[in-house]
Amino acid sequence: MATSINVTNPATGELIQEVKANTETEINQALKKGYESFQKWSKVNAHERSRLLQDWSRKVKENKEEIAELMTLESGKPIKESLGEVDYAASYIDWYAEEAKRVYGRTVPTHSESKRIIVSKQPVGLVAAITPWNFPAAMMTRKAAPALAAGCTFVIKPAEETPLTTIRLIELAHETGIPSDVLQCVNGFGSEVGPLFTDSEYVRKLTFTGSTPVGKLLIKNSTDTVKHVSMELGGHAPLIIAEDADLNLAVEQTIASKFRNAGQTCICVNRVLVHERIAEEYAEKLTNEVRKLKVGDGLEKDTQVGPVINEQGFDKIVSQVNDAIDKGAEVLYGNHYQSNKERGCFFVHPTILKNVDVNMKIMHEETFGPVIPITTYQENEQAVTIANSTPFGLAAYFFTNDYRVGTFFHEHLDFGIIGWNDGAPSAAHAPFGGMKESGLGREGGSEGIEPYLETKYVSIGNL
Ligand code: ADP
Repeated sequence: MATSINVTNPATGELIQEVKANTETEINQALKKGYESFQKWSKVNAHERSRLLQDWSRKVKENKEEIAELMTLESGKPIKESLGEVDYAASYIDWYAEEAKRVYGRTVPTHSESKRIIVSKQPVGLVAAITPWNFPAAMMTRKAAPALAAGCTFVIKPAEETPLTTIRLIELAHETGIPSDVLQCVNGFGSEVGPLFTDSEYVRKLTFTGSTPVGKLLIKNSTDTVKHVSMELGGHAPLIIAEDADLNLAVEQTIASKFRNAGQTCICVNRVLVHERIAEEYAEKLTNEVRKLKVGDGLEKDTQVGPVINEQGFDKIVSQVNDAIDKGAEVLYGNHYQSNKERGCFFVHPTILKNVDVNMKIMHEETFGPVIPITTYQENEQAVTIANSTPFGLAAYFFTNDYRVGTFFHEHLDFGIIGWNDGAPSAAHAPFGGMKESGLGREGGSEGIEPYLETKYVSIGNL
């Protein structure tokens, strides 16, 4: 197993910190501690757990600037977005601090006067989490907060690219009184730590956010111990612009969705389907706005598009753009790159492609970069068919002010998250998650605590 992880700044390639990777023994010990501390933590009353979560959230907000800077350093995310992510991360803790007090059971009317049936909820046990680098704070809190609120204990392995934000968030949690055995962080590479989590009999639930291939592997590896699994996997979001759409709004929201974190979120627009009658006008307006975006180091205050995370991500984006161009796509803007392989920093400038068709890789594979491929359609049914022709089903967007068209799209798009005239649909109080190969389960909302709960009923007889 690796003994250390070099955390570098993707904007400059500089080493930020060398983080010790945990040994197999240490990770197994952490799982054992998490398992043992469950007995105590699950008995702490819900109001007390809620209070501890509220204190944690307060600490996170008090340290917002410091956490955001750390996040930008290790992920490359523009500082404004990192500041926003700290608030977003804290909003999950706030939400589940409240939901902790609302884990209700029920009574069921029985078939006999001498019986009673009572249904109750209890925490599933020790939860193991694996998180990605694109939201180093929010992906952690949207799992840890409902788990702790439900009475579960929690061990997390953050992405090797961005462990520092998670380590800091956990320190703050411990400072507020959340016991160190209840909320733990272990570090290492996914392929090494993953099997220790999935093989462990101490772990009752595995929650993962990351790529679909790794998610599938984790589901398979969880079968021997029949773990509960929650999977937040890849996406390939379509954005449909109907003939009647408010084009200025559509352009503004396309940009909001596409360029967030340099296009590296699982709900970023991955393909634009625009009605053929308005396609030229949309493309022109979009290009005029995209031109204004400032690319640079995320620590500079006016940066809007930072670097992409690493060489692998960079190469994938370039290969998708080249494949589209080879197959007939036209570059409307961009296709410009700045990279330094030796130093390890990679920038992709915003790019717009038109005349894109379904034979191009970019129309099927998740891009995770600031590239907008535009294709056109004639009928709403055709737009839905193209939009749904993907194994993914995470987020979809459409723009229309015609309620009939909107209702048609809403009802026919096979995606868990729909943005109707809205390019930024995420919120701690809404159930985020995907259909098909985009995942299992929901995070956020009242749904987001359910995956951490078991249902138990008692039938009392002979009354
Ligand atoms: P990405 O390609 O965006 O980095 P991954 O799915 O590879 O997405 O990574 C997301 C998280 O999954 C990271 O924490 C990473 O360490 C972890 N990971 C990667 N490979 C494995 C694996 N084989 N088993 C368990 N976790 C893994």
